[in-house]
Amino acid sequence: MNYKHHWLTGEPVNLPVGKAVCVGRNYAAHISELNNPSPDEPVLFIKPATAMHDMMQPIPLPRGRGTVHHEVEVCLLIGQRLTCADADQARQAVIAVGLGLDLTLRDVQSWQKERGLPWEVAKAFDGSCPISGFVPIRQIGRLNNLAFSLSVNGQQRQQGNTAQMLTKIPELLSFTSQHFSLLPGDIVMTGTPAGVGPVSPGDQLELVMAAVMAIQTQCV
Ligand code: ZN
Repeated sequence: MNYKHHWLTGEPVNLPVGKAVCVGRNYAAHISELNNPSPDEPVLFIKPATAMHDMMQPIPLPRGRGTVHHEVEVCLLIGQRLTCADADQARQAVIAVGLGLDLTLRDVQSWQKERGLPWEVAKAFDGSCPISGFVPIRQIGRLNNLAFSLSVNGQQRQQGNTAQMLTKIPELLSFTSQHFSLLPGDIVMTGTPAGVGPVSPGDQLELVMAAVMAIQTQCV
């Protein structure tokens, strides 16, 4: 897969498909809806390259493993290596922005959380990270005030704005790079706002980044 097919605007980018570093609990209203405690620092987890899925293709959902939840998130495409970067370096490494779904096997995750087990099976399975095309950062200009939303079968389920993030993008990337080097082609998923819920085969999804992109796709 590459990212060049579905740009709504801008130039293609040819980069290897890397990992996605995801942040949990970065929007207060989402923390409340899952009765999670507010973290002292970002909660990070990783989806491997095998989790990536081109969102313009139908999204296959796992079967027989309980509820699959949607989590719409702004995702950042990294263009240069970040290791122990400061916030300025981190901001400059973001070359493009898209929308992604952090698909989550919620029943499995709840079971794991109750037992203090890691989340990989619930979060990092094959196809768990459907990703849109990317819009170059210079065409967006601002990262700290991006409104985005997800509708399922015509009903809006999630709505957020990057201004509501508990840890803002430069600081989030800087923190991430203290733990995991980010490489060109890696993605950072910046957390989901409130309204997560189940998706089923046949559901029609619409993901919107205000004034930037609108994507329609479906679950199968
Ligand atoms: Zn998420």
